[in-house]
Amino acid sequence: MSTPDFTCFQCETDADGLVTATFDVPGKTMNTLTQAAIAEIEALANWLKDDEALKGCVITSGKDNGFCAGADLQEMTALLTKAQGQSEDDKREAFKLAFALNRVFRSLETCGKPVAMAINGLALGGGLEWALSCHYRVVGSSSKIQLGLPEVKVGLMPGAGGTQRLTRLVGVMAAGPLILEGKSLRPQEAQMQGVVHEVSDDPVAAAKAWIKGGGKAKNPWDEDGFRIPGGAPQGKAGQMFMVGNAMLRQKTYANYPAPIHAMAAVYEGLQLPFDRALEIESKYFVKTLATPQAQNMLRSLFLSMQDLNKGARRPKGVDKDKIESLAVIGAGFMGAGIAYVAAKAGVKVVLLDTSQDNADKGKAHSETLVGKAVSRGKMSQDKADALLANITPTTDYTALGDVDLVIEAVFESREVKEAVIKQAEAHMKPDAILASNTSTIPITELATYSGRPDQFVGIHFFSPVDKMLLVEIIRGDKTGDRAIATAMDLVMTVKKTPIVVEDARGFYANRCVLKYIEQGLSMVAEGVPPALIENAAKMAGMPVGPLALQDEVAIDLGVKILKQTADDLGNAYKPGAVDAILNGMFAQGRLGRKNGQGFYVYPKGEDKYLWDGLSDYVTGSPQSLDPQDLKDRFLYAQALEAVRSYLSEIVTDPREADVGSILGWGFAPWSGGVLSFVEMTGLEPFIARADELAQEYGDVFAVPDGLRKMAEQGERFYPLMAVA
Ligand code: NAD
Repeated sequence: MSTPDFTCFQCETDADGLVTATFDVPGKTMNTLTQAAIAEIEALANWLKDDEALKGCVITSGKDNGFCAGADLQEMTALLTKAQGQSEDDKREAFKLAFALNRVFRSLETCGKPVAMAINGLALGGGLEWALSCHYRVVGSSSKIQLGLPEVKVGLMPGAGGTQRLTRLVGVMAAGPLILEGKSLRPQEAQMQGVVHEVSDDPVAAAKAWIKGGGKAKNPWDEDGFRIPGGAPQGKAGQMFMVGNAMLRQKTYANYPAPIHAMAAVYEGLQLPFDRALEIESKYFVKTLATPQAQNMLRSLFLSMQDLNKGARRPKGVDKDKIESLAVIGAGFMGAGIAYVAAKAGVKVVLLDTSQDNADKGKAHSETLVGKAVSRGKMSQDKADALLANITPTTDYTALGDVDLVIEAVFESREVKEAVIKQAEAHMKPDAILASNTSTIPITELATYSGRPDQFVGIHFFSPVDKMLLVEIIRGDKTGDRAIATAMDLVMTVKKTPIVVEDARGFYANRCVLKYIEQGLSMVAEGVPPALIENAAKMAGMPVGPLALQDEVAIDLGVKILKQTADDLGNAYKPGAVDAILNGMFAQGRLGRKNGQGFYVYPKGEDKYLWDGLSDYVTGSPQSLDPQDLKDRFLYAQALEAVRSYLSEIVTDPREADVGSILGWGFAPWSGGVLSFVEMTGLEPFIARADELAQEYGDVFAVPDGLRKMAEQGERFYPLMAVA
C-alpha cells in the first residue's frame, strides 16, 4: 500500500515499517485539530490498520512552539449552532459532530499497531487527549512543556476522551484537578503521575525505541480484567465523588456547567464499557456547549481575548513597532512593576526616580520577584540575570534621549506630573511617545502640559502589575493613532491584554468596580451581616468579596478618591453610606490590608476575619437578606455601569467591555463578562429586574434610555451567533 496523501502530516516509513508522522498543520503557527487534521488522523489510523507492512507509528510535531493546542475553537461554529438548536435533528447532528474526535482517536487506539506519541512541545486539550489515545507517551524534557486539559477555563469540558482515558489511567483523584480545574503538568510531574511513560531529551528516538522493543498495541482499559486505579464509582471511589461534588460546589457555587458535566461524565462513564463511556462524554460535551455560559465564556475568554491580544483594536495604517526600549519615571509601587514586566519581555528599561536610592529600590522589586522565581525553579539563573540586566536605575533625565516610549508613574498629583511631563519632553526624542499611568487625572488635562499632545496617551496598568492581565489605553482628546498604536505594542510585548478606553472619570474598569464596592458598603450600612455580604458576592461569581476588595485597594486610597470626586463635582456630589464608612474607618486608623486593620482583621500568620466594629456603621435595617437579591445587586450595579460606559462610548467594543471586566476586576467569569451577562439574562428581563432594584435601592440601578431603546428595537451587543 502506498502512503496516503497527507497535508497535515509528513510521513516517513523506515525499512522496519515504522512510520514517523510529523504533525504540521499548514498555514498555522500552532498545531490545532482542524477538520482537515482530524480527517487525516483517521486516514493515518486506517493506513496503519490496513497496511500489513507497517509495524507501528511515532507521532510528533513539526512546529517548534508546541505539539498541539487542541481542538480548533475557531472551527467549532457548526457544532455550536447544532448544539444550540432545539430540534431532534439538531441534537443528533451535534452529537455526531462532537463524537467525531472520539471516533477518530478510538480508531487510532484500536488500529492494531503500536502508536507512540513523542510530545515535543505543549499538548493541551484535544492535544493531550490525542496523546492519551496512543499506547505510549514520551515527553520532551523542557520545563516549558505543559500537558493539560484547560477546557473548563473557556467554559467547555474535555470532549475527546479526556474524561474517560485520564481517569482510567491515573484514577479519579489524580485526574480531578486536570479535568475539573484545568490544571496542567510539567513533564516531570506528568511522568510522576503516570500521565506519560517517559521524559526524554529526544522523545522521537525514545518513542521509536519503545516500538522497536516490542511496544504493545493496546491501552490498559482494553485489556481483560482492567481495573480503574483507586477504584470505580460503584465501589471504593464512590465516596470520592460525594466529596468531590461538594468541593466543586464550594469552589464554583455551581455557576459553571462545564465541570459539573465533566464530573457527571466521569461518574457515569467509569461504570460503563469504554466505547459506551466515550458516547456518554460526547453527550455531556454537547450539553455543555448548549449552555449560554459555555458560549459566552468561549466567546470572551477565547475568541475575543485572542482578537484583542493580536491587536484587533490597533489603529490601522500605523506601522507595527517592536518596543525595544522604554523609560519609566517614578520607581514606586507601579513604576517598579511596569519595569519588571517590560524587562521580563526583553525590553531595555530606564527606571528613573528623584534619588538613586529610590530608583534602586524600584529595581529591587524585580530582584525580589526573580529571586523567588529562581528558588522555585520557575526561572533559570541566566534568564533572571538577563532580566535584571535590562533595568537601569537612574536619576539622569538624559537617559530618556534614546527611548521610543516613556511612561510616567510618579505621585498622583497634577503639579508633580506637570513638572515631570515638561522635564521628560525636554530630553525625549521629538517623535517619542509619552504615556501616563494615572488612575484618576484626565489624560486630556495632563496633555495640556505636553508640547506634543498627539503623542501623549494613558497606559493604565492595574496593580499588582506582574499579576494583572488587563491594561487600559486611554485616548485623550488630542491623542493620535501613533500614540495608541505604540501603547498597544508595548502592552502586547509584555503579554497583557489591551483595551482602548475614552478619557472619563475612573476610565472603564475602576468606574465599574467602584459600583461593586459601593453596593457592599451600602449593605453594611443597611445592616446586612458582613459575612453574608461577602458570601453572596462570591456566590454571584466574584472572586473577592467587596469588603475584602476595599481592604486590598486600601481605605485611605478610597478616601482620597472620594475627596477628589467631591472636589471635582462640587455641589453635584452627594455623600452617602460609602463616605460615612470609609471616612469613619480612616479616622479610626483602619487603612485596610496594608496595616492589618480594615473591614477584616489580619493577624500575622493566621487567616483574616471580619472586624466586629462594623456594626457601629449600621444606620438602617436591611430590606432583604435573600442571597438572590444581594447577588443581583452586585451583578446589576456593575453591569449597568458597564452598559452606561458602552452607551456613552467610554468603551466602544463589546469584546473590550467583556474581556476588560473579567481580566480587570474579575467580574463573574461564568457570564462571559458584563455585557454578556446582560445578553444572557435577556435585555427585557434585565431591564425589568433593574427597574425593581431601582425602586428599592435607588439610581445606581437606573436603566439608561439607550438600553431600553436597544430592547425595543431587538438589538444586541453582539450580533447573533457572534461566536462564529
Ligand atoms: P508611589 O508613591 O508608590 O510611587 C511614586 C514614585 O514616583 C515614587 O518612587 C517617587 O519617588 C517617584 N516620584 C515622585 N516625583 C517624582 C519626580 N518628579 N521624578 C521622578 N520620580 C518621582 O505611587 P504608585 O502607587 O506607584 O502610583 C504611581 C502612579 O500610578 C499614580 O499616578 C497612580 O495614580 C497610578 N496608579 C496607581 C495604582 C495603584 O494601585 N497604586 C494603580 C494604577 C495606577
